[in-house]
Amino acid sequence: MYDYLIAGCGFAGAVLAERLANAGKSILIVDKREHIAGNTYDYYNNEGILVHKYGPHIFHTNSEEIFTYLSKFTSWRAYEHRVLASVEGQLLPIPINLTTINRLYGKRLTSQDLGSFLDGMAEKRKPVLTSEDVVVNAVGKDLYEKFFRGYTQKQWGLDPSELDASVTARVPTRTNTDDRYFTDEFQAMPKHGYTELFKKMLSHANIHIMLQADYRDLIATVPHRRLIYTGPIDAYFDYCYGKLPYRSIDFQFETMDLDCYQETGTINYPTSNLYTRITEFKYLTGQSHKKTTVVFEYPKSEGDPYYPIPRKENQDLYNRYKELAEMQKDVFFTGRLGTYKYYNMDQVVAQSLTLFKKIAKEDDWEG
Ligand code: FAD
Ligand code: UDP
Repeated sequence: MYDYLIAGCGFAGAVLAERLANAGKSILIVDKREHIAGNTYDYYNNEGILVHKYGPHIFHTNSEEIFTYLSKFTSWRAYEHRVLASVEGQLLPIPINLTTINRLYGKRLTSQDLGSFLDGMAEKRKPVLTSEDVVVNAVGKDLYEKFFRGYTQKQWGLDPSELDASVTARVPTRTNTDDRYFTDEFQAMPKHGYTELFKKMLSHANIHIMLQADYRDLIATVPHRRLIYTGPIDAYFDYCYGKLPYRSIDFQFETMDLDCYQETGTINYPTSNLYTRITEFKYLTGQSHKKTTVVFEYPKSEGDPYYPIPRKENQDLYNRYKELAEMQKDVFFTGRLGTYKYYNMDQVVAQSLTLFKKIAKEDDWEG
């Protein structure tokens, strides 16, 4: 009899497995895929280059608690991600900053000038509801068209005006020359990769792992007290209210006989090509190798569910599933797919740690 059957071996499931095992519970964690680590899975390809199977994953957080927790399972390589956008034949920093504006418009503005320059371009919107509103309200139509509209249409298959404000709000506008993609206090890559981090996290006598295993095929035969489910919530309920839309991506890898392919970790293509961005892994991992591997991302609607799509009708549908979820006895839902939230890795870790504490409190043992 396992105390917990956990469906899904990404961060959401693995964090709970580790915490609960540490608290003396017995765990069977299963994943449909042939590997652990969910969407953060990385591996050495045939050429010996460490790549991320499901697209580039850069760890960043402002939470010391999360960083300290994960540091139990890995040492880190300091890494600050930088992204350039290919716009009108130039490679310009994104998030838009002082350098972006000066290069794009051939200006020599200072940080002090930039606020009023952008105010002159911005079209104030009230209220700010959509992803179009966020950008146009901050920097106006021209920069919106050049940096956001096409990229968002490719990524989501929707116009920014059809997406919640929270999507493009992930990318700020800066009046200084800070060209880092993230400004979080902790920014680092697991020194030996994510898969190694997961191996350590799951290496506990109370944790059994089963791969290429759908929890549905085990639920009736493997005795367990409770289920933790981190797959898509609509699938759990057999799509009884209809399918929740997710965005998928086709990842095309290319290895080249070059030391270096592009001038920064990621280059975004907002107005050209069918792919959204190209990422070169050696920047992220710091690996030295005489060859290099890049990944092109081609978004699509069908395929593995990677991104919940933040917009009101989807949230309404999710809320109906959530109501059902709350009525399940001894079943907990967590993670990006289990709660239909566009979460980064640190947010998923935080969500599962919170769930662990809730379980511990309800069961009246120390979490
Ligand atoms: P997942 O990692 O998706 O794990 C869920 C697991 O459940 C899967 O392995 C799946 O196979 C399994 N499963 C589903 N159904 C079943 C079933 N019936 N039975 C058994 N197993 C099942 N975050 C960052 O912080 N920084 C980044 O740079 C970043 N980049 C990203 C880039 C891309 C292209 C994508 C798609 C995401 C990115 N993220 C990034 C987000 C990050 O991937 C997620 O926050 C995190 O991996 C979610 O973890 P999870 O455990 O909730 O889900
Ligand atoms: N975005 C954009 N142009 C860019 C970068 C981002 O339009 O050059 C928008 C796009 O809608 C994207 C969202 O901002 O989906 C969030 O970007 P982020 O880089 O956080 O996406 P992720 O890494 O999660 O795919």
